[in-house]
Amino acid sequence: MPTYSYIAENPQEGCLRCRKGFDLRRPIDREPLTHCPLCRRPVRKVPTGFSVPRITRPVSVTDAKKAGFTILEKRCDGSYEKL
Ligand SMILES: [Zn+2]
Repeated sequence: MPTYSYIAENPQEGCLRCRKGFDLRRPIDREPLTHCPLCRRPVRKVPTGFSVPRITRPVSVTDAKKAGFTILEKRCDGSYEKL
C-alpha cells in the first residue's frame, strides 16, 4: 500500500495534524484524499519525497560575494570589470 503525504490547502485553517502535513496509507485504487479526516478542511497531496517544501532561490550577486566569489562582468569592449 503506498503512503501519501497530505498537507492543508490553507495552513492557517487546518488542524494541528494537517497544518504540518501527515502521511496516510491508502489503497492505490482509492480516490485521493481531498479533506483532512480530522478537521474536514481541504488538503492537497504532496508528491512523495517532497514532504518538506524546499524553496530554492537563485544565487544573487550579493549572495555570491558573501560566499567569497568574485563576480566578473564582461564589458562591451571585451574587458572584465570586477564587481
Ligand atoms: Zn486537519
